[in-house]
Parts: sequence; C-alpha cells; structure tokens
Amino acid sequence: MEDVERVKAEAVQIMGVFQVLPRLVVFDLDHTLWPFYCEWRSKQDTPSLFPQTRGILHALKHKRLDIAIASKSPTPDIATTYLDKLAIRSMFVAEEIFYSWTHKTDHFQRIQSKTGVPYKSMLFFDDDDNNIQEISKIGVTSILVGNGVNLRAFRDGLTKFSQNTKASKNKQTKPK
Ligand SMILES: [Mg+2]
Repeated sequence: MEDVERVKAEAVQIMGVFQVLPRLVVFDLDHTLWPFYCEWRSKQDTPSLFPQTRGILHALKHKRLDIAIASKSPTPDIATTYLDKLAIRSMFVAEEIFYSWTHKTDHFQRIQSKTGVPYKSMLFFDDDDNNIQEISKIGVTSILVGNGVNLRAFRDGLTKFSQNTKASKNKQTKPK
C-alpha cells in the first residue's frame, strides 16, 4: 500500500491549484473505491481499498469537502460491513447503497435532498459508463475511472469540474 500521508499531501496540493472546488464528492464502491465486487465476497473477508484511495479521502476531509456514496450493490450489508472494517464509514455524509434499475438517478435525488448540495456543485467517480452518462445529464461532473480512484483520476475530476463551472458561468453572463 502506498503511503497514505504522501498521497494525502499530493491530493491537497492538487486541490490548491483550483479556484473552484466541488462542495460534495460522490463515490461508487465496487471497482471505484475497492478493487472487487463485494457481492462475490463474504463479510468475514478483510477488504482493502485501491492503493491511493485512502489518502484522497483524507485530503478531501482535510479541505472540508463533503463526501458521499452512491452504490447499486445488491448486498448493502456486505458493503457497510467493509466500510466499517476499513474504518471509513463515518467520513461520508450520505450513504446510498441499494440496487436500482436506474443508472443511479434515484441515488442522486436522495443525496441531493439529504445534503442540499445542487448537482452542479457535485463531482462523481464511477467505473460504469452508463452511470457516468446518465448522471452527467442531470448536471453532475462525472468521471469514469479505469483503475479505481487514484491521483490521476482525482486531478482529471477537479479539472473537468472547474471547466464545467466556468462554462456554466459564461452561459449565465453572456448578453442576449
Ligand atoms: Mg462500480
């Protein structure tokens, strides 16, 4: 495992580069925070996160950004057991883990009503392109991860968030 403090410091530094940051960062679980499907495993297993994920979560908390979970896992009991075992569960302001036929639009409706954060102030990471496409449409900056949440995906996410924010501001101020 990579050094948590080193990754955290680098993630904090990356955040310092951007003038605008999201108010809430939302994560999928399977193949986004951890490298497996928890429905295929047992509660007795010892889970681990992707190597750089913990450092990034700590950096977000350090900068006082809220974080939340949007997962379609059919085994929320295993997912929450793993969040407890990893000692990260208390970091999340909203935990939406339930199976759904939608591409997480109902997860985001719940997160929005629980936190009061508008979609345009959210950043979302997921490994499923269907979710990314659908959640982008409601106005959330959404990033497809190929190898879990790492510093590269994190930087890409903040870059895209800042571009989207600028684009929507320009639209608002453009004279008719
Ligand atoms: Mg996933």
